[in-house]
Parts: sequence; C-alpha cells; structure tokens
Amino acid sequence: MMPIYDIQSTPKHILIVGGGLAGCEVALQLARFGIPVQLTEMKPLKRTPAQHTDRLAELVCSNSFRSDDIGNAIGLLKREMRNLGSAIMEAADATKVPAGSALAVDRDLFGDYLTRLIEEHPLIELKHEVVERLPNSDEAKAVVICTGPLTDTALADDIASLTGRESLYFYDAIAPIIDSESINWDIVWRQSRYDKGEADYANIPLSKEEYYTFVDQVINGEKVTPKAFEEAKYFEGCLPIEVMAERGVETLSYGPLKPVGLTDPRTGQRPYAVAQLRMENQAATAWNMVGFQTRLKYPEQKRIFKSLPGLEQAEFLRFGSIHRNTYLHAPSVLDDQLRSVHRDGLYFAGQITGVEGYVESSACGQMIAWHILSHLRGETFTPPPTTTAFGAMRRHLRQDGVLSKYAPSNLNWSFFDPIEKLPKRKDERGRRIKESKRDKRLRMSERAQLALKEWAQDTRLTWHHYE
Ligand SMILES: Cc1cc2nc3c(=O)[nH]c(=O)nc-3n(C[C@H](O)[C@H](O)[C@H](O)COP(=O)(O)OP(=O)(O)OC[C@H]3O[C@@H](n4cnc5c(N)ncnc54)[C@H](O)[C@@H]3O)c2cc1C
Repeated sequence: MMPIYDIQSTPKHILIVGGGLAGCEVALQLARFGIPVQLTEMKPLKRTPAQHTDRLAELVCSNSFRSDDIGNAIGLLKREMRNLGSAIMEAADATKVPAGSALAVDRDLFGDYLTRLIEEHPLIELKHEVVERLPNSDEAKAVVICTGPLTDTALADDIASLTGRESLYFYDAIAPIIDSESINWDIVWRQSRYDKGEADYANIPLSKEEYYTFVDQVINGEKVTPKAFEEAKYFEGCLPIEVMAERGVETLSYGPLKPVGLTDPRTGQRPYAVAQLRMENQAATAWNMVGFQTRLKYPEQKRIFKSLPGLEQAEFLRFGSIHRNTYLHAPSVLDDQLRSVHRDGLYFAGQITGVEGYVESSACGQMIAWHILSHLRGETFTPPPTTTAFGAMRRHLRQDGVLSKYAPSNLNWSFFDPIEKLPKRKDERGRRIKESKRDKRLRMSERAQLALKEWAQDTRLTWHHYE
C-alpha cells in the first residue's frame, strides 16, 4: 500500500502496548500507511498464563479463525478485513491448513510470519518490556493499549485507576442469544411480569416435569473446566445457571425461571416455571436468555436449551460463557472516535475493548488504525456503515441500539441492520416461497460488500478485490 501519510511531519511515534493479534494489526496497518510506530511486548520477559511461546500474535488455544463462508457473520468480517488489507488475514492465508469451510492455520508458522513482518518493517520499532503504567500521551502522537484478555496486573491496575474500577472487568459472564426467527412463537409468548409496561419479554413455559428434567440436565451437563488461572469467583447477582441449580432443585423456579405474574395464553394458567428471553436489540431480531450465563460446553448448551418448549429449532447467535477476561465498559470509557474519554490520544484495541475472539480482536486493531490515521490527517473518522461487519462490530462497542447490559461478544448478525424482506413470491402451485436463512444472510453479505466498498472509497482506503 502506498504511504499516504507524510512521515516528516510525524516526529513522534505511535506507541502500541501488546504484541498480540490487535497490537500487530495496528502496528502493521499504521506502518503500511507510512506512520512510524513503537510496539512494546512483554514476552519473552513475561508470559500470560495462557501463552506457551515467545512469538508475537500467539494463538493461545484453537488454531481456527472460524468460518470462511460469507453467509456467516465471522466469514464476512474476514472478507472485509482482507478487502481492506489486514495483515493478520494476510498471515493466516499464507499459513493456512486444510479445515473445510473454516480458516485454520499452522500456529507456529502464523506467529513466525507476523513476528518477521514486524521485526523487518523499517517503520516499526519492537521493544520488550512489561509495561506497568499507561504511557504518557505527551511522549507520543497516540498510545494504543492492546494487552488483551489477560492484561498484566500492574497495567490493569493503572487502567482501572484512570477509568474507575467499575469500568474494568476481570471476568465475563455471558448468556446465550437466540435468533428471533428460530423461536416457535406459537409456544413462546410476549408478556411482562404482572403486565407491567410493554410486553418486553418472551416467555417459555415449563410444566413441572419439564422443569425437573431441565434442572437435571443443567446439573449433569458437561461443563468447561476452568483454567488453572481462573478461580471460580462468581458474583451472587450473576451466578452461572448450573451453580444455582446445584443449590437445590427449586432454586431456579424461585430465581430466573420464576413463573409469577405470567399467564400462558394457550392454557390461561401460570406455568410451573418460565424461562424468559429479553430483547437483545431494538430491531427485536435477537433475544437474550435471561440468567442463563453458564460454563456448559457449547454442544451441551445447544442440546439442553433446545429441549425447552419453543426452542426446538433455536439458532444460537452467541453461546453463554464465563471466563477470565480483562475488558472495559467500552460504551462509557470510549468516545465516538473510540478514544479514551479520560485521556487525550489514548486508544484501546482488541479484546480489552469487549470484542471477543481472534478475528474480532484483529479487526478491532485494524479499525483503530484507521481512527488514528484520520486523527493524524486532522479529520473526523466516519465509521463504516452498520450494514457492514466492521460497522456491526463498532455498533457493539458503542452499544448503539443494543438493549442488554454491555458484555463481551463475538460478532453476530444481531449487530447488523436488519435487511428488508423480499416481496412475497409463490411457486407454480401457488405455495408461498419462504427465503431461507442462508439466502437472507447472503443478501446481507452482498449488501455489506457494496456498502463497504463505497465507504472505503470515501475514506480513501485501498480496496483489495477478494473472491
Ligand atoms: C485461555 C484462552 C483461550 C482462548 N481461546 C480462544 C479460541 O480458541 N478462539 C478465539 O478466537 N479466541 C480465543 N481466546 C480469545 C483470544 O485469545 C483473544 O480474542 C485474542 O487473542 C485477543 O487479541 P488481543 O490482541 O486483544 O490480545 P492478546 O492476543 O492476548 O495479546 C495481548 C498481548 O499483550 C501482551 N501484554 C499483556 N500485558 C502486557 C503488559 N503489561 N506489557 C506489555 N505487554 C503486555 C501479551 O503478552 C500479549 O502478547 C482465548 C483466550 C484465552 C485467555
């Protein structure tokens, strides 16, 4: 890519802390724009409890970047990253291993590839140091913190003293989200408890027998074993559903599955227990399972939660989880330009912002580099449209139109603008043709590609055609 920034007028570096996925992406993006950067990584002096090597951009667990199919939100995000010259995607494509429709890599080659790109780039200075305090923004044009889900303690403390302790979290407890179209609305009904306010909740009725079976499955379902560095430290107000279930067979029926104030319109009765769904976004295309934060393994969540009446065909846009994760309350600590509201010139990128996963963290790094580029050009960054995967990810960070409490999340379709339905069509026998979910998502992807290309032109970013 042609340098589009005048280096001579940039005597000070951009300081980036953390040489993981986000940090490498920010560094390489900026360096390729012609902007000198200094990247500080604590390895090999110190590793996080999840790391095993001294390479940059270490993949600490799976070697998969998940689906590469653009009918999938994460596949679309990868396409958009490639379209806009992502270094992480370049490395992944260069080191991929066969994995069907997923993009998986040889993790050692992947780490070597990025380490080499960073070490060899003339505009990147790589430094090894355990950073304990937020670098002073006077020392640099901008500071970007990319220290990830296991940010080292002293730095995390310093971040918390800047943002306020209530804005930096060390664990996440996430409930699953379900696609509205996959819910059987003949069984699940809309009503608020005691009919207070609008019918904001969707209710899943359980008979006594169904409830007892459910509790038994939750207790006996296979759970993710916490890592050695993850203490099972839960807040009373946010206990995993299985921990509540283990406290006594009726605990859930007095807790998140309490039926009081609810009447099943099919029977005119109050069910024995009710699981509630809360609207996840203003478009009501996605619903959050209230109180269902859990350590159950993903296939177990699918099996057990789909046994609930009305959820037999449920499509999970996000699964529940509980794990050690350092992240900020991005909607309140970052401004519209994704800068710290507490200190000029301070940015955060990657998982510490509340995006989740290898791909999203890298994409977040890519987007922060564009923000910094705009800032250096003296322009206000125009965000990518919310019909695109980048725009949808940014919407999550801004919590724009999202109704539930801020929680880290993988990218999913509920963050995108809904797409208008196709005009009604009938087959030759007069039967209504319903558009499949996949076709609808392919249409959303096509819409995203067109919108992103136009946006990239307006933003003066180079477009790489990718099939
Ligand atoms: C145990 C575990 C398993 C995971 N499994 C998966 C998975 O299978 N798939 C998936 O998509 N995602 C997984 N994730 C999430 C994934 O690791 C993150 O999404 C991704 O790595 C985040 O990228 P990042 O650049 O924000 O942070 P990281 O990749 O973690 O990079 C942060 C970098 O900052 C450095 N650093 C930290 N503190 C300091 C400091 N004070 N000074 C200097 N350097 C510092 C670290 O050494 C590290 O290199 C997992 C996370 C954990 C913790």
